[in-house]
Amino acid sequence: MNFYVYNTLTRKKEKLIPLREGEISMYTCGPTVYNFAHIGNLRTYIFEDVLKKSLEYEGSRVKHVMNITDVGHLQSDADEGEDKMSLGAKRENKSPYEIARFYEKAFFEDCNKLNIKKPTHTCRATEHIEDMINLIQNLQNKGFTYEVNGNVYYEIDKFKNYNKLANLSISELEAGNRVEVDENKKNPLDFVLWFTNSKFKNHIMQWNSPWGVGFPGWHIECSAMAIKYLGERADIHCGGVDHIPVHHTNEIAQSEAFLGHKWINYWIHGEFLVLDNGKMSKSMGNFLTLNRLIEEGFDPLDYRYFCLQSKYRKQLVFSFENLEEARVSYKRLKERIYSINEKVKNEENINEISIKHYKDKFKKEISDDLNIANAFTVLYEVLKDNSLKEAEKIYLVNDFDKVLSLNLLDFREEKSRNSEKPEETFITKLITEREDARKSKNWAKADEIRNKLLEMKVELIDTKDGAKWKMKE
Ligand code: AMP
Ligand code: ZN
Repeated sequence: MNFYVYNTLTRKKEKLIPLREGEISMYTCGPTVYNFAHIGNLRTYIFEDVLKKSLEYEGSRVKHVMNITDVGHLQSDADEGEDKMSLGAKRENKSPYEIARFYEKAFFEDCNKLNIKKPTHTCRATEHIEDMINLIQNLQNKGFTYEVNGNVYYEIDKFKNYNKLANLSISELEAGNRVEVDENKKNPLDFVLWFTNSKFKNHIMQWNSPWGVGFPGWHIECSAMAIKYLGERADIHCGGVDHIPVHHTNEIAQSEAFLGHKWINYWIHGEFLVLDNGKMSKSMGNFLTLNRLIEEGFDPLDYRYFCLQSKYRKQLVFSFENLEEARVSYKRLKERIYSINEKVKNEENINEISIKHYKDKFKKEISDDLNIANAFTVLYEVLKDNSLKEAEKIYLVNDFDKVLSLNLLDFREEKSRNSEKPEETFITKLITEREDARKSKNWAKADEIRNKLLEMKVELIDTKDGAKWKMKE
């Protein structure tokens, strides 16, 4: 396998060497289902989808696991603020479970519209409480935890190299996390594994545990579910860059303390989508959803195309103007492919050698830490290569679209646009104007329009169902 990825753990682009030949195990942190996903979240899921499909294109089987956070995530990733599920429940006067199922469904609908493929396993935190309790008990037996006031904490000072992923000093991590002063914590960076005596006295989601009735911390769910479904070692773990200093750092501390060895080989992070006027945040209420883009007249795939135009490791600035530019260029690309497809002759066969040349080129780009911009360049080279037959071009477009997932060969829109010639729309408009003139007995205007149409060689035939037209011979 010849695939290179930027590994946050080593701060280097590295050749991906899978644990098992031909198979990749991949875990991606899933949504906290207390509200709609915002388009920033969706950028991260698009990047993970492209990564997975690129690995599949390269020839690997990908076993992909993603969690659904439906309990335990507080407003800040570092045990601070209110519980997100309870917040959603209060806001909408529903139970946390109703909220969770509603937004989980909405999330997968968004993914579907964006051609994001479903993971091999999707697992809900609330259905894996037992696994989390077992993990916490094991950490307790190994001496990595302490209990104060009924809560179980992870003691980061017991774990060597706690800061290895973030590559920051402990004081930098503290400054970045803005950790709330918690009298119970030995180190401000310690985090809760199990809450029993939290500030949320009437928390609805509660389970029995060896430490009393309560609920798990957020970080433990990913460790428990990733290990359960992918085993003691896995190839890839992904998420947005915000997860580096807290969530993923804590996941490593828990999992490696539990396992006693290295857990994940490649940590791959997607950069943020930002608004041109600052950060998008659910808690600040200034977040954009996919449905909002649809209401503004965009196709969900315009947004996918927009995301694919920039490197996943670079911040991407969103504005409706930028999205509009992407929409136009995506439309042009599809129209170009449509006109090539129109010329394909049935008897045309495919020359394997010319196909392979371009397939290899495309593969080389996507395998270079997802160089999708260059992969698009290969696509354009294919479209303009005169030595390729039209059928070969279409074959390659279809092949590349397994990774890009832009429905490049779905011509529904192009067909309706092209079957109606521009004059026809104009003609139809004139005919309606003439009908209106006739209804208001404005015969002079009706005649004027008839003559104008005649000049355009359009002949009108008045019938009881309205005017029909045909081109004059
Ligand atoms: P959450 O539902 O908040 O747990 O986030 C889901 C995913 O979206 C995580 O991988 C986050 O790192 C990622 N994420 C959050 N905000 C943004 C953003 N503005 N741009 C890109 N990814 C984001
Ligand atoms: Zn996670």
